Amino acid sequence: MTDALMPYDDVLAAFDPALGLEVHVELNTASKMFCGCPATFGGEPNSGVCPTCLGLPGAMPVVNAKAVESAIRIGLALNCDIAEWCRFARKNYFYPDMPKNFQTSQYDEPIAFDGWMDVTVPTADGDGETYRVEIERAHLEEDTGKSLHVGGATGRIHGADHSLVDNNRAGNPLVEIVT
Ligand SMILES: [Zn+2]
Repeated sequence: MTDALMPYDDVLAAFDPALGLEVHVELNTASKMFCGCPATFGGEPNSGVCPTCLGLPGAMPVVNAKAVESAIRIGLALNCDIAEWCRFARKNYFYPDMPKNFQTSQYDEPIAFDGWMDVTVPTADGDGETYRVEIERAHLEEDTGKSLHVGGATGRIHGADHSLVDNNRAGNPLVEIVT
């Protein structure tokens, strides 16, 4: 028995819980975030790819104007400030379905920030109670590819014989909304 743990009631008295969500919104653009490949689902695996979304040497990404417009619209709908200029950053990590080994995302200079959204929660008296969800930021980034795990009972990597990678989704535009 340790006395290092605070009793539950003391924890509730001493701290306010702060919970946040990161919501990924897939944008409905015709093309991907940084190349002209189709941003559609369901094509023949690895048919909608190019040197840019595969991260091949010398590829030159060009930002999708429609995705930027969509991000601004989302930011305005969430009562955010819209940055006069913003920056993309490389988020480096290795994962088999991310062919570049980095995700192009936004870090300290997102396109939209400091917003809010009012949500009315039903109450027993029927009047409802309005609760304000603060929006930390809404930033642009790109999706990863998709791993398919084959041979197991559940489709998950555990128990699978082998895995296949479909990069059609790699580079699809996303807005990440952070509450
Ligand atoms: Zn591409």
